[in-house]
Amino acid sequence: MESLVTEPRIIARADHPISRQDVDKDTLRVLYRLKDSNYDAFLVGGAVRDLLMFRKPKDFDVATDARPRELRRLFKNSREVGRRFRLVHVFFGPKNVEVATLRSAVEPVDADGDLYVDEDNQWGTLESDAFRRDFTINALYYDIRDFAIIDYVGGVQDIEAKLVRAIGDPRVRFQEDPVRMLRAIKFAARFGYTLEPATAAALAELHADVLKANRHRVTEEFFRILTQANRAAGMRLLAQYGLLNDLYPDWVHAIGQGGIDQVVEMLERVDDEAEQDRYYSIETIAAALFIPLLDTVDPAKDQFNRVAGRVTQEVRQLGIRMDLPKRLINTAVELLRGQLYLLFFAHKEQRVRRFVESPWFDPTWRLHLLAFGAIPELAELRNTWLTFRKRLGKPIGGTVPSPDRRDIFSFRGRTGGGRNVDRGGRGGRGGGDGNDDDDGQWAEPELVDDES
Ligand code: ATP
Ligand code: MG
Repeated sequence: MESLVTEPRIIARADHPISRQDVDKDTLRVLYRLKDSNYDAFLVGGAVRDLLMFRKPKDFDVATDARPRELRRLFKNSREVGRRFRLVHVFFGPKNVEVATLRSAVEPVDADGDLYVDEDNQWGTLESDAFRRDFTINALYYDIRDFAIIDYVGGVQDIEAKLVRAIGDPRVRFQEDPVRMLRAIKFAARFGYTLEPATAAALAELHADVLKANRHRVTEEFFRILTQANRAAGMRLLAQYGLLNDLYPDWVHAIGQGGIDQVVEMLERVDDEAEQDRYYSIETIAAALFIPLLDTVDPAKDQFNRVAGRVTQEVRQLGIRMDLPKRLINTAVELLRGQLYLLFFAHKEQRVRRFVESPWFDPTWRLHLLAFGAIPELAELRNTWLTFRKRLGKPIGGTVPSPDRRDIFSFRGRTGGGRNVDRGGRGGRGGGDGNDDDDGQWAEPELVDDES
């Protein structure tokens, strides 16, 4: 093994911009506590990357040579978590700092995405910990001892060159864990970076391997791409590399290229609004994926019940095939039915009055603006709804104040993320799907626990 040792590039404090003032206070406390107990302690991963890019990190991860058991002893307010990786969370009130023991490179992943590791083999050196990470920009360490940055993989250069580069052989790394392909696109889109050529080539070659990945992890990454900055660019990259076709062939088939373009346009609007600190919930964004299914609707000729029935069924079927949790499928159905409601019933005052009072109205309205807001022919219809809605005298909701960073499949709620849900309360649709007379009721979707 000795011959494999790489000399890292060390960037002294004077030569990089990261200051302790930029690091979360509690994270600093953890780093110092470790250092004072004679352990190595580093800030690592996304936080170092983001600080070097002069961006505000969303969370701060710590790496150390202390073992989980030692960490538990050192921090009374801590808990061991993680199936895939054993991590220790150190709690500070409602928030926590994630501390990981330095690990070795070997990470066999089984079909469920779980890691099976030999207890004795999983721990490693700083070097091995760096090389098992996914991209060079994600493998930088900030050493609390001397505030230097330690770079084994050329990550600092790649940040300067704005490149997403897999560590090691990208083909091997993508085969080891195909979710990394989605992560490559996630980071390239978010930062407006370029995929380094060999990384891009491996992605172009191996994209279909994404089907071997754990579906929960895939869905999580897909929605991270859709809820971060530059979603439109992310969606285009997913399409360009064939990943949309691999992952969601039925959806692609149902909405066609035109539908994908339409979704990208909506995401562009979402991107623009995010620039103005107006964000959409995961529920709204998931529903936007199905908007193109309304393309052929003609309120002059069609019947609400028939179209709503068709759309409901299509969204249900596609949503299941796309591994979306039932909760998201149900809200997408409601928000799409809401679109139809806006289109079909603007002239029915009774219905207008009732619907503007429904908890579904505001998110439905927001989605309408995203999807159809630029269509001049709908201006009059919009005016009607808006007039009645304004009479309620309360501000229109349906957006959230911060990016929706909830996980799709677990709701532990990470530090710092927005936690708003635009779903509403009362009412109840008695008859379920078969009850066609009952087109005017707005029910809270069944909140089904999807953990499987
Ligand atoms: P974000 O800002 O989205 O949280 P992040 O870089 O912190 O970005 P995480 O998913 O939180 O990303 O992962 C933390 C770190 O763990 C990464 O920076 C990377 O070093 C490592 N990592 C995460 N997923 C993988 C993976 N699939 N393979 C290898 N390393 C990974
Ligand atoms: Mg992170």
